[in-house]
Amino acid sequence: MLPSKTYIQSTKLDRLYPCYDVIVIGAGIAGLICAAFLAKNGKKVLLIEQHSIPGGYCTSFKRKGFNFDAAVHHIGGCGKWSIVGRCFKTLGIEMNFYPLDPMDNLIFPKFSIEIPANLEDYITRLQERYQSEKDSVKNFFNDFIKLYRATFNNEKSQIIDKYKDKTFGEMLNAFFKNDELKMVLSGQWGYIGLPPAKASAIGMCQMMINYLKDGAFFPSGGTQEFANAIFKKFIDFGGHVMLSFKVKKILSSGNTVKGVKLEEGKEIASDVVVSNIDARQTFFELLEGRIDSPFLRKIERMKESCSFFLLYLGVGAELDLSELKRGFYHTSNDSSYAAGEWMYISVPTKICPSLAPANKQIISVVVYIKDGTYKYKNINDWKSFKQDMTLSTINRLEHYIPDIKKHIEVKEAATPKTLERYTLNTNGAAYGWEVSVNQIWDNRLPHKTPFDNLYLAGHWTRPGPGICAVVSSGWNVANLIMKIGGN
Ligand SMILES: Cc1cc2nc3c(=O)[nH]c(=O)nc-3n(C[C@H](O)[C@H](O)[C@H](O)COP(=O)(O)OP(=O)(O)OC[C@H]3O[C@@H](n4cnc5c(N)ncnc54)[C@H](O)[C@@H]3O)c2cc1C
Repeated sequence: MLPSKTYIQSTKLDRLYPCYDVIVIGAGIAGLICAAFLAKNGKKVLLIEQHSIPGGYCTSFKRKGFNFDAAVHHIGGCGKWSIVGRCFKTLGIEMNFYPLDPMDNLIFPKFSIEIPANLEDYITRLQERYQSEKDSVKNFFNDFIKLYRATFNNEKSQIIDKYKDKTFGEMLNAFFKNDELKMVLSGQWGYIGLPPAKASAIGMCQMMINYLKDGAFFPSGGTQEFANAIFKKFIDFGGHVMLSFKVKKILSSGNTVKGVKLEEGKEIASDVVVSNIDARQTFFELLEGRIDSPFLRKIERMKESCSFFLLYLGVGAELDLSELKRGFYHTSNDSSYAAGEWMYISVPTKICPSLAPANKQIISVVVYIKDGTYKYKNINDWKSFKQDMTLSTINRLEHYIPDIKKHIEVKEAATPKTLERYTLNTNGAAYGWEVSVNQIWDNRLPHKTPFDNLYLAGHWTRPGPGICAVVSSGWNVANLIMKIGGN
């Protein structure tokens, strides 16, 4: 749903410059932000995207008048003083966001808990519910907030040293005795795709405090509008764009990049290249593993994050969804999340009714599959997988919405293969590299690479996954390029 046909047209081939200051590969949110900042600062920028629309995972699609968000459900830090808010203000982008209040709900088999939009209220709620852990709750959040500030300011500090090698599970064990409290505090681990025993404490902190302190928001008109707003700004700043063009190779001379080669054969020169795409593909396919360095060996050892199954339903007005809570529906009853199979259910039309035809509603479901990465690699028949998952997910939904089957008017689904097809992220990796201790903070790939003039932006690099983090990543890379003239 682009605002006008103008914005989906690629720059005509005969109008391309012979050489660009910067070519950005991939119009995911990090690529868009980086390209927009560079164009705003007078650089000649070409943005190349293999899909026909910008946004990567932050896109929407329409079926029979229902406007479904493909992957992203909400965005952290869109307030005036937070990262996305400041970034949009600097770029001159105006956009309406709906703040989510409550921020989330955690539904466990035996109880549920509402996460308020205000962090102080959440702390009080936890202290009232777990009175014997009152001081520990306070101390835990003191450290968590300090850690958040240090990571976003990119400071080397004692608090980072204290937690950089710790899993979130280890951090929780150091503060709390009560298993239920640990389970509640881990209840949003799906947002980074790793259960607490494996998830990095820094990774959980960046995600949770971002949502709890800086707020979670839904962009008016859906997530495609968020991407479109940045895309439109980039074009207003004079940026050039090629949609539905895939970059096949990054051209280099020795250790210095020189431009790109498209799949259909055309070569385009540039002084600097920014890769917003899968990092393994960047170095092993587009650069054909041309440097033999510890950097490449490191990438060989790194592990992709999980992927998901998604169900998109368009339902009639008569289905009563007023009591259905937006949030994580967990099957686990213990803090190790041994069962680990959760669903995230939301009804975006409760926030933004215009996403559906008059009086209709959208139900959106994200399903985590335990050991998914291993399972996906062994799936040959994706069509059957999709059918089976659609059926089992609707059956699971029936538990919370008894009459749902009678009211479904539109039904679509996406598997990891679908996510991979539209974004080329390997196995539909939702968050780039897995957010484990040895793949976050200093251990995540840096923006600057061993190739001169080649930079990385997006969830395969720092600070990590999620829209707010990749906005910061794209902005940082633009600053690096402008400060040092691309060297
Ligand atoms: C199901 C799901 C739900 C999620 N929910 C949320 C959420 O609610 N909130 C949140 O903050 N985050 C969420 N995330 C995570 C978030 O979407 C990602 O971390 C973020 O969007 C990644 O952005 P990116 O800029 O790194 O790149 P991507 O979105 O991965 O985009 C990369 C772009 O590069 C293009 N590309 C790839 N290869 C080439 C090539 N060779 N040539 C040209 N173009 C190429 C792709 O087509 C794509 O457009 C979710 C992810 C998934 C999968």
